[in-house]
Amino acid sequence: MDVHEVVILGSGPAGLTAAIYTARAGLKPVVVEGLKAGGQLMDTTDVENYPGFPDGVQGPELMELFKKQAERFGATFVSGDATKVDFASSPMRVWTEDGELQSKTVIVSSGASPLELGLPGEKEYAGKGVSYCATCDGFFFRDQEIVVVGGGDTAMEEALFLTRFGSRVTIVHRRDQFRASKIMAQRAIDHEKIEILWDSVVEQVIGDGTRVQSLRVKNVKTGDTFERPCGGFFVAIGHRPNTELFRDVLDMDDQAYLVAGHGAATKMPGVFIAGDVHDHTYRQAVTAAGAGCRAAIDCERWLEAQ
Ligand SMILES: Cc1cc2nc3c(=O)[nH]c(=O)nc-3n(C[C@H](O)[C@H](O)[C@H](O)COP(=O)(O)OP(=O)(O)OC[C@H]3O[C@@H](n4cnc5c(N)ncnc54)[C@H](O)[C@@H]3O)c2cc1C
Repeated sequence: MDVHEVVILGSGPAGLTAAIYTARAGLKPVVVEGLKAGGQLMDTTDVENYPGFPDGVQGPELMELFKKQAERFGATFVSGDATKVDFASSPMRVWTEDGELQSKTVIVSSGASPLELGLPGEKEYAGKGVSYCATCDGFFFRDQEIVVVGGGDTAMEEALFLTRFGSRVTIVHRRDQFRASKIMAQRAIDHEKIEILWDSVVEQVIGDGTRVQSLRVKNVKTGDTFERPCGGFFVAIGHRPNTELFRDVLDMDDQAYLVAGHGAATKMPGVFIAGDVHDHTYRQAVTAAGAGCRAAIDCERWLEAQ
């Protein structure tokens, strides 16, 4: 069986950037694409903040370009998820539905998934008014009614950020107090553009077939339901890192994000991490791509040193 120089797990911006760099370094990377080839940007339409595209670019088109660039330098691709790993063996072993891969190094860039509410209309209007990222999409909702669901620090941050754009920002929260830190919660409560609907849940996303128009909201204490006009609906209830496979293998924090040691290295020699699987602060395509570059360079240097 061939022993590869590097196997990359995931084909989002982090994994494909790592593939471009390691391919150009002559390491012939094999990318295990994952069930969601292209990663999170496959779920979005306009990306306006990725440098180099002054007129914006569609998420799937951007990821196609990343892949083409990696292929040009000799990266190869295996479809589907990695289903099992053994990082303690030498060479390391990665299993996919197609069989086993052996490699001297592995770059883990398996990303994260935003948590969804699972509401009627939520999927249908994702990217058409329903968003999971204020930094990414806030700009699209200038002077519109914006609604945020969530009660943690991230939801407060997102709501405060969205006041720059929305005519009004409404936070819908199922309880009568936020889980967020006191200081963040108070900032949101005190903000003149933010209104809070306590004890309330969104039950349905309503649109005209092309865009979100309103939300059906229910007060859980009184049982009253009403329709709230809404142009942008931000679901800010958290993310789940795709790290199940690495439980008891790599170090994780209390939210199951992978933890790096020096640079992109992990505690397992020859295993490097990049992107949203590790970064729960920035969560942007450009930061994930930057992390992919960093992991690739760390990986090249590690191989050279062996
Ligand atoms: C709807 C939406 C819109 C967004 N819009 C923007 C935007 O406009 N601008 C911006 O900068 N950012 C945006 N983001 C954020 C951006 O998409 C992420 O920060 C970025 O994609 C993270 O890249 P990543 O490579 O780390 O992970 P991901 O993009 O999450 O990719 C992870 C990859 O790993 C794969 N994978 C998972 N498990 C396994 C496994 N077991 N084996 C192999 N592969 C696996 C997945 O299938 C996927 O291919 C948006 C995110 C969402 C959800």
